[in-house]
Amino acid sequence: MFDYFCIMDHLLPKVEIDPSAGFCSGVKRAIEATEQLLSQPDDVFCLGEIVHNEAELERLNNLGMKILNREKDNTGDIKGRIIIRAHGEPPSTFERLQAEGTTVVDATCPVVIRLQQRVKKASAEMMEARGSVIIFGKPGHPEVQGLLGNSSGNAIVIRAVEELDRIDLTRPLRVFSQTTSDLGAYNKFCEAILAGAAKASGEKSDVIINQTVCSQMSRRGPGIEQFALSHDVIVFVSGSGSSNGKYLSGISKAKNSRTYVVTDTGQVKPEWFVNALSIGVSGATSTPVWLMHQVAGEITRMIKND
Ligand code: SF4
Repeated sequence: MFDYFCIMDHLLPKVEIDPSAGFCSGVKRAIEATEQLLSQPDDVFCLGEIVHNEAELERLNNLGMKILNREKDNTGDIKGRIIIRAHGEPPSTFERLQAEGTTVVDATCPVVIRLQQRVKKASAEMMEARGSVIIFGKPGHPEVQGLLGNSSGNAIVIRAVEELDRIDLTRPLRVFSQTTSDLGAYNKFCEAILAGAAKASGEKSDVIINQTVCSQMSRRGPGIEQFALSHDVIVFVSGSGSSNGKYLSGISKAKNSRTYVVTDTGQVKPEWFVNALSIGVSGATSTPVWLMHQVAGEITRMIKND
């Protein structure tokens, strides 16, 4: 726990960084692999944003990392090493890069790799049984694309209970979630699919639910709830494109209306801290700890100057 507490004046609010905030292990591992590559001479590229945080991307960019657009950039022209980020990629991406003679550094999170393997195995079984693999997640999300690529083409991506009518509930079904889905929403979806299959086929229904929401994600929801309740003001640091940041800051706002979301120190405002005795700084699983320290330092500077 990191405290920015002025011992000179105990009336100044206490500024605390959420001890559970910061990179998940998969993102941390991918960033460390990138830093290692950047310390060597050859160019380093990442296929898509390595993390959804502008400040961290800028830091890595300043060290020499370049980001490739997954859809638009022609990887065949690349001379250097290409990192596969923690979300993973479908097998077709690896095959293409290999055919192009690119040096690939695979930083796919081990949790995502295990999920890809399970989806692949279940897809083969469902081909035989004339059933389907269901992936609860966001269509087009890179992790989901990687899972689809491992599914021999017989997986259906669903993002909400309302889409249940797209599934033939009389068939065998193997259900998985994207690792970053909201656990509560996934549980609701699973209840609905089990109920629907039981209604359609009774005892003959053949649905297996796999609990594949990453525990590092699911723990953060209850964690930010408690953190938001135990501080007068929350400053939530997140990249503007981070869906995890939107989700966690939404939970914080629901528990503490004095929650403010910032991307960096420049957005922090002194008027937020009027009459506050405790200020919490938290962030998404894509927010670097160094950035939260910067924001905490800026808040401390503001309240001292008040
Ligand atoms: S959220 Fe979990 S599965 Fe996804 S990259 Fe992080 S550690 Fe890996």
